[in-house]
Amino acid sequence: METSLDIQAIRKDFPILQRQVNGQPLVYLDNAATSQTPDQVVNTIVDYYHGYNANIHRGVHTLSQEATDAYEIARQKIQKHFNIAHSYEVIFTSGTTHGINLVATGFTSFLKKGDEIVVSAMEHHSNIVPWQMLCERTGAVLKVIPMNQEGELVMDAYHDLLSDKTKLVFCNHVSNALGTVNPIEEIIEAAHKVGAAVLIDGAQAAAHIKADLQALDVDFYTVSAHKMCGPTGVGMLYGKQEWLKKLPPYQGGGEMIAEVTFEKTTYADLPHKFEAGTPNICGGIAFGAALDYMNNIGFDAIAHYEDGLMQYATEQLLSIEGLRIYGTAKNKTSVISFNIEGIHPYDIGTILDKLGIAVRTGHHCAQPIMDFYKIPGTVRASFSFYNTKEEVDVLVAGVKRAKNMLV
Ligand SMILES: *Cc1c(COP(=O)(O)O)cnc(C)c1O
Repeated sequence: METSLDIQAIRKDFPILQRQVNGQPLVYLDNAATSQTPDQVVNTIVDYYHGYNANIHRGVHTLSQEATDAYEIARQKIQKHFNIAHSYEVIFTSGTTHGINLVATGFTSFLKKGDEIVVSAMEHHSNIVPWQMLCERTGAVLKVIPMNQEGELVMDAYHDLLSDKTKLVFCNHVSNALGTVNPIEEIIEAAHKVGAAVLIDGAQAAAHIKADLQALDVDFYTVSAHKMCGPTGVGMLYGKQEWLKKLPPYQGGGEMIAEVTFEKTTYADLPHKFEAGTPNICGGIAFGAALDYMNNIGFDAIAHYEDGLMQYATEQLLSIEGLRIYGTAKNKTSVISFNIEGIHPYDIGTILDKLGIAVRTGHHCAQPIMDFYKIPGTVRASFSFYNTKEEVDVLVAGVKRAKNMLV
């Protein structure tokens, strides 16, 4: 396989990849659940706690200034990475789930009975429940964009669902269960024609695709740092300033107010209106370091390498008799969900773990997709730029071995 990445050098940045599991070298193929963290990001975390740990935006003292500056520089790195017009349109969150709930709760006062919210059939649970709760609060109705056997959204059906009743459209950029890259440009454009706002869940896409949010003209976009080489517990919500100004605050607390009396509180300007309390300061700074790390490697090189790896893995896995891959969209990335006829995915996952191979088994927080295929779940192998062709070979050999043991 041709690659412009120096994989061996890259792998040295991730000490965890050298460890053994059950006496075997670790083969980490659960990147869709969380990515590993390079030394450059770990060192940023250590430097913070060794050097300038302090609360931000409050102190006049030097440490607080340094922490505030580093945190705001991280916000600017996120702004630049996603090509966002203003840094105050970048809201730090605890992750994608938080970002979605912030928007869903905020929309309560904008919706009335009979309004419609459109979501795709391939959503993560975190992307379904908040909308159901929003519908319960407001009397709005949830409409679902169906998908086909390949795991692609049926776009004709989407266009038919849209009307002047549609107020919001929610869809993931990349499905964590199937790897489908959804046609979000078309989804956003069509929603805007009927006056609906669009939130795109970029959690799964962000490690593979560098989204240009101004070009997309999306209203909201949300990601989690831990799926793109950053730490857990931090993420970002992008919102167009028109929306963020209209949207009520999600939580009350320190940082988010301009003036407080017992009669009335005036909220702080963006982004602080949505950042109540002491944030994950170190996490935010480390998120910036993770973006630096990935951009240094380059997203084009990452995408090219991962595509090659996924294609190779697809061919090799399909050579196993009885193996079926779920999610065969023309446009997909870095995720292979599969089953072997007559074997429960959990049993395959357990044997693979004995061989040092980390995959995910189950419904991948996307039960409706499993119901669609009438299966209890799948085995999911998901790839990152630090995985190798040799690791794919270990996976394929492991699946063959599991099959022989279980059939
Ligand atoms: C992981 C994931 C989420 C949830 O992210 P959290 O970091 O757990 O909040 C949401 N949507 C998709 C598509 C995901 O892959």
